[in-house]
Formats: sequence, C-alpha cells, structure tokens
Amino acid sequence: MHEMSLMSEVFEIINQTVETNNIRQVKKVNLQVGRLANVAPDSLSFIFGILAQGTKCQGACLMVEEMPVTANCLTCDQEFHGEGFPLICPACGSRETYITGGTEFRVASLEVDEEVKSNN
Ligand SMILES: [Zn+2]
Repeated sequence: MHEMSLMSEVFEIINQTVETNNIRQVKKVNLQVGRLANVAPDSLSFIFGILAQGTKCQGACLMVEEMPVTANCLTCDQEFHGEGFPLICPACGSRETYITGGTEFRVASLEVDEEVKSNN
C-alpha cells in the first residue's frame, strides 16, 4: 500500500527525533500532505494507529494538513496556485510551468512531552 510505505518513512523520521531529543511521549503529529501526493487522507490515521503501537507515538493524535498545488511560470516567473490540470499561468496564460508545491508528505512538527521539563 502506497500510504503504508509513506507512513513508514514518516515513522523513521519521528523515531529518530524521539531518540535524539529524549522525548518521553509524542502527543501530536502534524503532517503536511500535498494534493499531488496521491494518498487517501482517511487511511492515514488508520495506518498511523497501527504503526504507533508499541512506540512513543502510541495514543498520539495525527493531524493532516492538506497542502495546495503551487507552480511557477517559466515564461514570466509568476508563482500561482494550481487548480486542476493543465496548469496555466494566470498572469500570462503560459502552460510552461513547473510544480513547486503539492507533492509534500512530511512531518511539519511534533507536540511532545520531553524527558527534561523546562521551567515555566
Ligand atoms: Zn506566466
């Protein structure tokens, strides 16, 4: 499953962060998923729950932020939000564009309980 392999990679990153920072418990994972990442957001929470079992992410909440498609125009260098394909530059009408965003699948941030408490 596509989503499973992506989430496995995400977990490797999280586990590295957990080890490096002596994190006791991950409370929330904020994930950024581009519209072009070709995943079903609904299945991500399910997979997350499976992979989290027995790790410091067990019981953590998964937040999925859907990222828009952005592109740059090769003709006039305009950056714009893509709505459907083909991507057409709204400034000059060119179809010669390249995608700059919307394929993300990454951890934006973690909310955690750290081993060493800071003084509030
Ligand atoms: Zn343009």
